[in-house]
Amino acid sequence: MPAIWRSCGTLTWWRETRAGCASTQKFDREIDRGSLNPGKQLFEKMASGMFMGELVRLILVKMAKEGLLFEGRITPELLTKGKIETKHVSAIEKSKEGLTKCKEILTRLGVEPSQEDCVAVQHVCTIVSFRSANLIAATLGGILTRLKDNKGVARLRTTVGIDGSMYKMHPQYARRLHKTVRRLVPDSDVRFLLSESGSAKGAAMVTAVAYRLADQTRQIAQTLAEFRLSKAQLLEVKKRMRTEIENGLGKKTHDSATVKMLPTYVRSTPDGTENGDFLALDLGGTNFRVLLVKIRSGKRRTVEMHNKIYAIPIEVMQGTGEELFDHIVYCISDFLDYMGMKSARLPLGFTFSFPCHQKSLDAGILVNWTKGFKCTDCEGEDVVELLREGIKRKEEFDLDVVAVVNDTVGTMMTCAYEEPTCEVGLIAGTGSNACYMEEMRNIETVEGNEGRMCVNMEWGAFGDNGCLDDIRTQYDCAVDENSLNEGKQRYEKMCSGMYLGEIVRNILIDLTKRGFLFRGKISETLKTRGIFETKFLSQIESDRLALLQVRAILQQLGLDSTCDDSIIVKEVCSTVSLRAAQICGAGMAGVVDKIRENRGLDHLDVTVGVDGTLYKLHPHFSRIFHQTVKELAPKCNVNFLLSEDGSGKGAALITAVGCRQRRGGASGSASVMSRPSHHLDNALLLQLFFHPPHSSSLHLPIAPTALTPPGHSHSRKHVCMHRELKILEYFTFIYL
Ligand code: ADP
Ligand code: MG
Repeated sequence: MPAIWRSCGTLTWWRETRAGCASTQKFDREIDRGSLNPGKQLFEKMASGMFMGELVRLILVKMAKEGLLFEGRITPELLTKGKIETKHVSAIEKSKEGLTKCKEILTRLGVEPSQEDCVAVQHVCTIVSFRSANLIAATLGGILTRLKDNKGVARLRTTVGIDGSMYKMHPQYARRLHKTVRRLVPDSDVRFLLSESGSAKGAAMVTAVAYRLADQTRQIAQTLAEFRLSKAQLLEVKKRMRTEIENGLGKKTHDSATVKMLPTYVRSTPDGTENGDFLALDLGGTNFRVLLVKIRSGKRRTVEMHNKIYAIPIEVMQGTGEELFDHIVYCISDFLDYMGMKSARLPLGFTFSFPCHQKSLDAGILVNWTKGFKCTDCEGEDVVELLREGIKRKEEFDLDVVAVVNDTVGTMMTCAYEEPTCEVGLIAGTGSNACYMEEMRNIETVEGNEGRMCVNMEWGAFGDNGCLDDIRTQYDCAVDENSLNEGKQRYEKMCSGMYLGEIVRNILIDLTKRGFLFRGKISETLKTRGIFETKFLSQIESDRLALLQVRAILQQLGLDSTCDDSIIVKEVCSTVSLRAAQICGAGMAGVVDKIRENRGLDHLDVTVGVDGTLYKLHPHFSRIFHQTVKELAPKCNVNFLLSEDGSGKGAALITAVGCRQRRGGASGSASVMSRPSHHLDNALLLQLFFHPPHSSSLHLPIAPTALTPPGHSHSRKHVCMHRELKILEYFTFIYL
């Protein structure tokens, strides 16, 4: 049994207590059985003053019964509960007069103790009180270690306030307790302070602290309350989105509209007859990719993709347009080498996820850069032409740029390939944007009233006219001011991956300044822009994560936090992402309700194709988004379909259709469309894909010569332009 007192690690200590104390356990059980509250407060019964004398008495009875004490004499006093009190244990353990006291006490119990009996009883008392001090010390050690961890300090400095007569009166108890605590928590400076009338003063102190904490909690809640939107506010967001949609579509209002509603010249979703090998570029997100997409039609439709990811260095993202396109062409060249396809003149679809004014499938004039891009000499230019010029400068290979595609459209098309009711595309990734099939008669910026056309909403700019200012917070404004495109993309800045972390960081800075976080110290890390990536929001908000793990993540980020800090940070993150998902849902509710009304339906079944890492990986975003759409557009039954690489596959699908259409126009012109895999019925394709209003125009022949470059040695630019013009003419003829 003495082994119990020798260990110093908490765990070992507990283990030995349990293993070595088999005989003491019996007494503990007996005390428990005889108490007013059996089975309860077991720890107290082992460690507190109230039960210490009783524990000693039971041991003495047992020892006497075994003839180890008092020559086996057992008196009725010794058998009476409460006859040995804690104050007796204290007295017996006194170093000088302890033995005399012991004799007195035992004599009163009538057991006629010998000198050896007195020494043995003193020993029993020491063991019992030692155990109590160690039990308390071990528990306190556990608490202090936790405290040290929570504070995240290398050395804990703290004071433990103590009250209680055992601690005050017992001759060795306090010293033993201190010693064991210090051994158990070595990296600490622990002071023990005897409390004077702790119960009364303490109550007042606790109340004061509680007030301070409650005030802090209230102020944090108030700060975050601005992010919590009511259903009425969300319905208002939906309504305003609807107004902006109308403005973007209207001929007179389009120029000043913020939500641009850009026509894409994609007039129908795919039908499964698409076929061929295509190159696709995906620019406009986190990664720039080059892809080879092999689409096979027929009974077993397949899409096979090969892709390579390339970095776009920040100098290139913010350099000149020529540098950007040279870099892109360099990456294509590398990819073609990698695939061993340099000589094939493949049709290419260019997923370019920035707002573009399109006049045809293969011309897109960049309205303005977003999402961290800021290259010179591109805004107002046709990005397809910039790409073609880049390819020409390189003089290594030739490509046929067939379509410029927004990623939302690619996403919609990819999902529509699987699910024909998919008529809406949504991106919730670096940025936020949507597209949907709008009635031609409503798109006043494109002539013609028949059928539908996909419109790239560019809804990220929603709010740029100030219409969302009432729900924007000071933190949204701070994020905006620190961005490359101040005042622009205000909606996107409230709900997309590139910005959520920044909103969180700005709130954290403010809460720290006000002394609610990180002990009021704003670290260099916290000052660093972009440090709080949205992927950390996902991690922190994961339901499976314990608070300590949240702290570990913050630690990884260089944010030295306590557990209290972690709770607040988690709350901030979930508040920001909740609002993001809700306002995104409010926008989508506006879109699906518009589609429903367009068709004069009481009820609409529709599928939304979605892409974007925020949507895919955040633990709550998609669920809240779905829920919001459902609540705000109750007359629509909206299905959500995850897109598998909309930017790659979708671009290829759109290119496939564009190719068929062209090939049809240039029937027999091998020099324009040399790949044998594209043998498809032109008229059928046109009908299926572009829904031309005048069926007579289906068989419209275009003179092959017009599309055939008159010898490659001539000015290629001239040839290209000539061809473009012809195609434009073709489009025009069919659609207008
Ligand atoms: P993009 O929109 O750039 O084409 P993604 O859809 O992959 O590409 O989105 C990338 C963005 O998603 C990143 O900028 C980042 O903001 C966000 N993101 C990355 N990882 C996560 C994650 N685990 N959870 C939530 N968002 C993430
Ligand atoms: Mg993307």
